[in-house]
Order: sequence, then structure tokens, then C-alpha cells
Amino acid sequence: MPLPASWGLEKALAEIAAIGQFRRPRLLESGQGARVTIDGRTLLNFSSNDYLGLAAHPAVGRALKAAVDTYGVGSGASHLVCGHTSAHEALEQALARLTGRSRVLLYSTGYMANLGVASGLLGRQDVLLQDKLNHASLLDAASISGAKLVRYRHGDVRHLHDRLAALQPSSQRVLVSSDSVFSMDGDVPDLRMIAACTAQAGAALQLDDAHGLGVLGAKGGGACEAHALDEDAVPVLMGTFGKALGTAGAFVAGSEALIETLTQKSRTFIYTTAMPPAVAAATCRSIELLTEESWRRTHLQQLISRFKSKVAEIGLKLMPSDTAIQPLLVGDSSAAVDLSNALLARGFLVVAIRPPTVPAGEARLRITLSAAHDENDIDQLVHALAALVTQ
Ligand SMILES: *Cc1c(COP(=O)(O)O)cnc(C)c1O
Repeated sequence: MPLPASWGLEKALAEIAAIGQFRRPRLLESGQGARVTIDGRTLLNFSSNDYLGLAAHPAVGRALKAAVDTYGVGSGASHLVCGHTSAHEALEQALARLTGRSRVLLYSTGYMANLGVASGLLGRQDVLLQDKLNHASLLDAASISGAKLVRYRHGDVRHLHDRLAALQPSSQRVLVSSDSVFSMDGDVPDLRMIAACTAQAGAALQLDDAHGLGVLGAKGGGACEAHALDEDAVPVLMGTFGKALGTAGAFVAGSEALIETLTQKSRTFIYTTAMPPAVAAATCRSIELLTEESWRRTHLQQLISRFKSKVAEIGLKLMPSDTAIQPLLVGDSSAAVDLSNALLARGFLVVAIRPPTVPAGEARLRITLSAAHDENDIDQLVHALAALVTQ
């Protein structure tokens, strides 16, 4: 029996296409880097989250290959059965040092880590307070945990304060969750104020540092290092390996009690195969590189400043961001796709981000910079934008 016609899949797909929101993956014939190959063409890549240029770094690749010689490929089981190797253990310890946390627990993806935090800590009687623009995995975490989801206006500490004050005074657990660097906007809210406001209300704070880890902080320790937020201020710290660290996977860091609780209760940790040990070993090597090679962060910062000032010179307005995520708001989905295609024709990969990933009417080009770029790459992009966009 095929999928029943009554499900109306074709019709729903046609509706998605009609509003300019039909999506399909691009086929890359190369690895990540400042340049990628699509359809045999070399494109300057401004869409990757490989902020430090580590995703295709030879040393990270060598670490992965060496670990395959030791451990093979598959981890064979979940962490709690027999999939937890000394490579995983070493990575947890390296992450604890990098983030200044007591303990770390690995997850296979960031999406699963966020689901795992909520499902491990919260139940129906609890409340999850979230920034409106939080990553989809945080928002989905609310439904999987059964906790009541309450949202506050993006980055609005006053509104967060009011929301906290309006909660029923009872013994329920209240977890406030926020991206540190907002994935589609690139801005960073006042994290110290959020931490203070959360603590004052007797609630706990979770930060998703997917886009801060490795990039922010003098040592690459992420948003918490940059804003001097210790384990008491941010008791639940989540980070991912798929962005600046250039590999794949994720972790949660915090107190002994937090990590032991998640180990016992977090379903997306317990009921899934541990990441391949070689990926853990490669991630350890990435952490060494980003710690030793602070020039990657310095260079990235210089590129960000250069891009912002050159774009201002041509009279273009970017969304307010000081991070490697520098979105250009377009508004209409089809217009954003047209601009992305025009850039593609000129040799630039700058992907348009449309609803439902961003709010309706806020389609944008999400321009991301990387330490793998050089100044000339930045200048070329600005030149192309100047030719294509008139404001
Ligand atoms: C990418 C991302 C995730 C998901 O991480 P994966 O490891 O890719 O599943 C979670 N939160 C934020 C803010 C992200 O940008």
C-alpha cells in the first residue's frame, strides 16, 4: 500500500514550493573550506559553521585515522553498555578543562544533547523558559520533556524577569534556556544579566554554546569564558563539535550531580550508540589546535571587523552582530533565494535562510566568516554584494 492519497503529501509540497520555501540539499564534491566545489565549480564558501577552519584540517584527519587503527570504526554500543572507550573519556576530560567545568557528558549530536537535558531534568510539573529565537532543538526539548514551555522576547532580560516573576510559587523546577550566540542572527544577549536574573528567581540556566565554543574567549572556552560565567552562574552548559571544532557530536558540562543525573535519566544519552571513538579522538585534536593556535580567533576577529566596515562603506546594513555570523536581512523568501542564486552565479556560496528556520518575513542571507578565509575573500564578497544589492 503506498502512502494514502488522503495524506495529501503532493499538495502540501506544492504549497511549500508556491511560497518560495521548498528546500533541497546542495551536493558538494569537496570537503569544507574557504572554497568548496559544487557542479564542478569552485565557490567561495560563506555558509559553513567551520569558523576556525578545522573541519578539513590535516592534523584532525590524522588523529581520526590513527584512532581507527586502534579502535576500528563503530563504537558498537551505547556508552552505558560497552561503547565508552578511553578516547571518549579523554575527550570528556579535555572538554572539562576547556570549559572550566567539573564534569562532561558526551552526546552524539547537539540536537540530542538539548533533548536529553530537558528530558533528564524536567517533567510535566516543571517549566522551561526560552528565548523566542532559540534553536529548534531547544524548543523541541520542551515537548519531549512534557515541561511547560514559556517564551520570552529575544534577548529581553526585562521580559525574562517578568516571566519568571509570573510563575506559580511552588516546588517546580524552572530551567531558563538560551543560545549564547544566536544561530541565525549572530547576536549575543546580555548573558551576565540573564544569569543574574535567573539566579535571583531561584531558577537554573542552560546555555547552548554551539556557536561560541572555540570561537569566543581568549582560550576558545566559549561564551562562558568570554563573559566570566562559572559553573554556578551557568550550571548547564551545552556545546557542539560540528561547528568551530570541525567534527561532529556534542556535550553537556556541569556539576557532578548534573552529569550523574543525566547519565541515569537522559534518554538521548542512554538509548543511542556512542559516537565513533575516532571522532572523539579527532575532536580532542581539534581542541588542542584551537587552544594552541589562538591566531585562528584573532584572524577571524580581524575578518569580521573588515567585513563589517567594508559593508558599511557600500551603504549596506547588516543585522547587529559582532560574531562570525553576519546576516543580511532580505525579508521575502523568494527575494532571498534570488540574491543567493545571483551570488552563486558569481562564484559565492551564501545560502538563504527562510521560514520556518527564521520568523515569517525575515528571510536572510546568513553570511558566515571563517579563519580559513583571507582578506581578499572578504573583499570579493563585499564587491559582489555592492554590485547586486542596492538599498
Ligand atoms: C547546530 C546547533 C545545534 C545542533 O547541534 P548538532 O550537533 O548539529 O545536532 C544545537 N543548538 C544550536 C544553537 C545549533 O546551532
